[in-house]
Amino acid sequence: MKIAVLGEGAEGERRVSATPETVKKFIGLGAELAVEKGAGTGATIADSAYEEAGATLGTRAAVLKDADIVLGVQGPDPASIKGVKPGAWIVAGLNPFGERARVDEYAKLGVEALAMEFMPRITRAQSMDILSSQSNLAGYKAVLDAAAEYGRAFPMMMTAAGTVSAARVFIMGVGVAGLQAIATARRLGAQVSATDVRAATREQIESLGAKAIFVESVKGIEGEGTGGYATEMSDEYKAAQAELVSSHIAKQDIVITTALIPGRTAPRLISDAQLKTMKPGSVIVDLAVEQGGNVEGAVAGQIVEKHGVKIVGHKNVPSRLAADTSALFSRNLFNFLSAFWDKDAGRPVLPDDDEITQAIRLTQGGKVVNARLLDMAS
Ligand code: NAD
Repeated sequence: MKIAVLGEGAEGERRVSATPETVKKFIGLGAELAVEKGAGTGATIADSAYEEAGATLGTRAAVLKDADIVLGVQGPDPASIKGVKPGAWIVAGLNPFGERARVDEYAKLGVEALAMEFMPRITRAQSMDILSSQSNLAGYKAVLDAAAEYGRAFPMMMTAAGTVSAARVFIMGVGVAGLQAIATARRLGAQVSATDVRAATREQIESLGAKAIFVESVKGIEGEGTGGYATEMSDEYKAAQAELVSSHIAKQDIVITTALIPGRTAPRLISDAQLKTMKPGSVIVDLAVEQGGNVEGAVAGQIVEKHGVKIVGHKNVPSRLAADTSALFSRNLFNFLSAFWDKDAGRPVLPDDDEITQAIRLTQGGKVVNARLLDMAS
């Protein structure tokens, strides 16, 4: 049973889908590992470290030859994996909604594409959840990116020359990234407030020592929401939220936005008119910029300045901490594949009726088989 680890082809992607640690663990299960030369460079893992862990190194064609499972951080360009064995598994973050045409290409190649971001949010799958592991570090990095662009200090400092006041940080969207952003900003000494549409987040915000800012006049999503996810809010809610944000945002120094709705463009949370009310020198980090952005005027891959406010729109924030995010991503993949390992078969086996299989399997036997994708098409 051969597992291939590909180098990432996407621009700016520094992460890698296996580390020497997970290579060793897969070999411990009886697999043979082949790593594309230079795959770990962006995550500061040398080819020699993979060799020492027991993998062989080679060109893409060599590692793909006879591979049963192909690992990636992002899905490989289908043209770059021609010659892959029919029936081989492609296990990666495949961005199925954003790269829908690619899914058809995978079907044509006869591979079984498994989208790790479709992992269901059930207790059993927590250790396999790439969205959580990557968002966590993105939330942390967003605060550091804001601090780097902010021309002032975060903590209150009492010095002989006088007092420096603490930065006010507002987190919009308190999922995995938002919670980590709250914790990180608090650790740096900022005064932190946060908001979300899901009522369950109020307690989480307060337990981290931040102030919860909520729309009170219109009901949000009670509890957690299905699978922990938000949905599009009513116009009435949006109007109430805009009013709340307008009054709060003018007093903030830093705003981090993380609000996402699965399969849809990100909700717009800050308008240009609201930006204008912010103090010059304030910084906004829009973590949703690649899904359409929470902030009007945010540009993916750029830091733009509008009305004296910097809007940071880094792409692929997890890749900016590639060594740590790769370690967690790789463990997510190992945890998934090892949980389904069949000792007799000497490889993982996915039962057709398993909730995880049904959620993540995109293609099989030359066809697109995923219910979420088929629902979208109909
Ligand atoms: P996400 O990335 O989908 O969205 C980020 C946040 O934005 C969410 O909290 C969402 O409610 C919020 N949001 C959406 N629209 C908004 C709007 N208009 N205004 C303000 N906020 C808005 O979320 P996520 O990080 O994936 O986490 C969502 C929840 O799922 C969390 O409670 C998390 O703990 C939970 N979760 C559970 C599991 C599990 O059980 N295995 C795994 C991962 C996450």
